Amino acid sequence: MTFSSGDQAILHIDLDALVANWRRLGGMAPQAECAAVVKADAYGTGAAEVGKALQKAGCRRFFVAHSEEALALRQALPDVTIHILHGPTAGGEAELAAANLTPVLSTPGQIAAWSALAKQLGRRLPAALHVDTGMNRLGLSETEAYAVATDPTRLDGIELAFVMSHLACSDEPDHPLNRQQADAFAALRQRFPNLKGSLANSAGIFLGADFHHDILRPGIALYGANPLDPSAGPRRAASRMAEVVHLQGKILQVRSVDRGMTVGYGAGYIVEKPTQIATVAVGYADGFSRALSGRGSAIIKGRQGHVRVPIAGRVSMDLITLDVSALDASDCRPGTPVSLLGGGIDLDDQAAAAGTIGYELLTQLGRRYRRVYKSSAA
Ligand SMILES: *Cc1c(COP(=O)(O)O)cnc(C)c1O
Repeated sequence: MTFSSGDQAILHIDLDALVANWRRLGGMAPQAECAAVVKADAYGTGAAEVGKALQKAGCRRFFVAHSEEALALRQALPDVTIHILHGPTAGGEAELAAANLTPVLSTPGQIAAWSALAKQLGRRLPAALHVDTGMNRLGLSETEAYAVATDPTRLDGIELAFVMSHLACSDEPDHPLNRQQADAFAALRQRFPNLKGSLANSAGIFLGADFHHDILRPGIALYGANPLDPSAGPRRAASRMAEVVHLQGKILQVRSVDRGMTVGYGAGYIVEKPTQIATVAVGYADGFSRALSGRGSAIIKGRQGHVRVPIAGRVSMDLITLDVSALDASDCRPGTPVSLLGGGIDLDDQAAAAGTIGYELLTQLGRRYRRVYKSSAA
């Protein structure tokens, strides 16, 4: 892909690959419904575009974190079920009901407010119930959940769609908390015998049938990251997903730097032999982590094939510098595209080089990139 003159960087988002990932995850639990988690603007990839592509493929249920995300997604997707993981904000309930959104209720206060609104409106309002089974983050405690189960009047006016819980360690398949949470969730479902259940995030889907229940909630795997942690060892090969995100920066300049000179802020990168340095128009203001300074790598397609080159010196606000000495000068010129994520740079590897996880690299993806969506269904 060549750059048109104004582009500094292009973010390619492959919606076909994303849909293929969604189908594959759903296929792993054919009796369950595969929803999609599109919080944080679909992990940085664009919730409206991703939502429409998945809806076209048959996805009918979406999860976001905030009410505002749900209201925005409702504009793009008038006919699907949209769940708000953080539940309704106090005082904001009526707006959510008017937009036909389905909050996930996690506290007795949220249940009471949603039930009160239903009575006031004189109609049943849909919701889901989140019960904590060991993460200790969001959700009713098991005691609170059992209190609700024994006194269903607390749910007056609420049409419960399902009961859910969230796994703390699903990316580590051997972690003992997985089994404990699966058992606690199975016991909880006995108390709500007529409700569907939802437990598995992306990694949870790979833990097997005991974790699948009725509704799957994949996020990260849709966007191409491997949901399992490196500690999963060889099993990780089976959870590799199709690449969705490819970030290409553009070379602005190439310069020869002599032995003993330094590159970039802080003069921390000292050149030990004559070196070719290429300056690329992406920096930390674009969400390209400054933690990749001297650690990350990039790929340039030259006549020898794809050549991996190191980031030399610090990532600055709008620029990075690469040591491109390994390339032929004619393959490395102003305008040459450079892959910084995807296109041979594995998302999870680049994240590890930055000391973080793929989730964070994706959700930081910058607003200055020209975004190009690939979709054969469009
Ligand atoms: C973010 C989130 C998910 C999706 O998790 P992934 O690891 O990205 O698949 C599912 N459920 C809940 C409650 C979440 O917060």
